[in-house]
Amino acid sequence: MAENRNNKAGLYVISGPSGVGKSTITREVIRRCEDVYLSVSATTRPKSEQEVHGRDYWFISREEFEHGIEQGRFLEWAEVYGNLYGTPRDKVEQRLEHGGNVLLEIDVQGGRQIKQARPDAVLIFIMPPSPEQLAERMYKRGRDEKEVASVRLGGAEKEIEQAKGWYDKWVVNDDLEKAINEVIDIVHS
Ligand code: ADP
Ligand code: 5GP
Repeated sequence: MAENRNNKAGLYVISGPSGVGKSTITREVIRRCEDVYLSVSATTRPKSEQEVHGRDYWFISREEFEHGIEQGRFLEWAEVYGNLYGTPRDKVEQRLEHGGNVLLEIDVQGGRQIKQARPDAVLIFIMPPSPEQLAERMYKRGRDEKEVASVRLGGAEKEIEQAKGWYDKWVVNDDLEKAINEVIDIVHS
């Protein structure tokens, strides 16, 4: 059943290494919590077969993205594994002004930008139970080419290091249901 609790609104960031389960967790949090709005990011990364434009990302050209940067349309943006990713400013600010909870699924560079601009934002980092299980999930998902997947796995340690000192909450995604509930508790606490 969907939850809709009328608590204080806020901005929440979910980050973590590729393949750790961020999208899976975020999707469930949104499904169960009607009071949480998930921001859809823009990216220059090519769309995979499983993904839908406007649901998973706004897939746009680099030219369009760079124009958006010049126009100040992104709340934050970063280059991640050779592609640009950014949070469209308008919808997030509107939701926050109307007292809504907003969730951003973004990388650590973006999370740090958000924390600097809005110190009250809560940064949540999703940790894998082990490097082996992270690799297993990455390949199980089957979205990326082998080389891309291996570069991303290689970046996991660095991301975890970069998050230290910035992130407020650390959630280990071992048991999926437990991890989902921990994130819901953070958003509703
Ligand atoms: P991310 O968004 O962090 O890159 P995904 O949400 O795409 O990761 O998850 C990667 C893969 O791991 C998916 O196949 C997903 O079903 C699986 N997965 C997510 N959480 C768990 C978990 N707790 N245990 C086992 N598999 C998981
Ligand atoms: P993926 O290509 O796997 O969908 O995403 C790669 C990385 O980019 C992930 O760490 C994801 O969280 C991050 N990301 C997605 N959207 C944004 C965004 O709007 N801003 C930033 N900074 N990172 C993002």
